[in-house]
Amino acid sequence: MQNEREVGINAVCAAARVCEAVRAEMVHGTGAGKLDKHDRSPVTVADFGAQAIVCRHIEAVFPQDVIVAEEDSAMLRQNNDHLAAVTRFVRAEIDEAAEKTVCQWIDRGSGEPSARFWVLDPIDGTKGFLRQDQYAIALALVEDGTVQWGFLACPALPYEGGTGVVFVAQRGGGTQILTLDGVVLGAVEVSRVADASRARVAESVESGHTNHGLSAQMQGALGIVAEPVRMDSQAKYAAVARGQADVYLRAPNERTPDYRECIWDHAAGWLVVTEAGGTVTDVYGAALDWTQGRRLERNKGVLATNGQMHNVVLETLAALLPPR
Ligand code: AMP
Ligand code: MG
Repeated sequence: MQNEREVGINAVCAAARVCEAVRAEMVHGTGAGKLDKHDRSPVTVADFGAQAIVCRHIEAVFPQDVIVAEEDSAMLRQNNDHLAAVTRFVRAEIDEAAEKTVCQWIDRGSGEPSARFWVLDPIDGTKGFLRQDQYAIALALVEDGTVQWGFLACPALPYEGGTGVVFVAQRGGGTQILTLDGVVLGAVEVSRVADASRARVAESVESGHTNHGLSAQMQGALGIVAEPVRMDSQAKYAAVARGQADVYLRAPNERTPDYRECIWDHAAGWLVVTEAGGTVTDVYGAALDWTQGRRLERNKGVLATNGQMHNVVLETLAALLPPR
């Protein structure tokens, strides 16, 4: 019988293999197997495939558990070509995959947040996935309003010796980095840089997902000269967790002032950074509140840092942000 750690690792690693197989076909595929990199079908196929696989892994060991995932099968059921492609990719990981079971597995992810639930973003950073850039499979287990486990597979993040890692964090147990084959590479820790002018800032590539202007103002006010590192997905949390960045700012975008962050975009990353010794709050310094359903209704934006410079960054932001 597998425990939560094993299920989580096996699930996100299997999903990562499927996503990479879709990406390989998108680049090298020919004829019927080709997925056009100019449309969104690769992301559709990989997204649904990853969700089916992760839900299936969880259901097999924890049949009673609630899963809250980003997708459902409604759209897929209307597109036979996509459903056939998803099924073909899922079958590479799970023999018994058929079109009907794949839809059922995907819809295991239609649960509502409750006392204990898994939360899944099958492909976080879809734009990065399409650009052959960073993306993540993000899975977390939330119990009684606290994230207890975080699993962040980043198939395109390099490590010494290869590409593709998974970060595993347990509440109170630290954060580890593993290869996608499940080999433990070690514990990860945030940087110890305390001087905020030396901070390396990570932020979204997409201008609609953060506020690049406000981020630039913050960097100016702190005296930061290094260019920010832009990457898609929760790989930004991973960069802070392993000390490659010191700050990840997700500032509210003035074009979408009422936007509230989705829990699947943050739960795994939050724990990965927290357990690596860092600090994560919203941009006003409030703790992230996981008890508000599918979105962080009580929070605005996110600030993740190595902890050392959290307060000075918050003070700088307070002078730039509209009042709460
Ligand atoms: P990133 O990889 O940092 O660009 O973030 C990707 C995530 O941004 C997606 O999974 C979306 O859920 C989320 N997103 C979509 N619209 C917004 C928005 N207006 N503000 C912040 N995040 C958004
Ligand atoms: Mg996402």
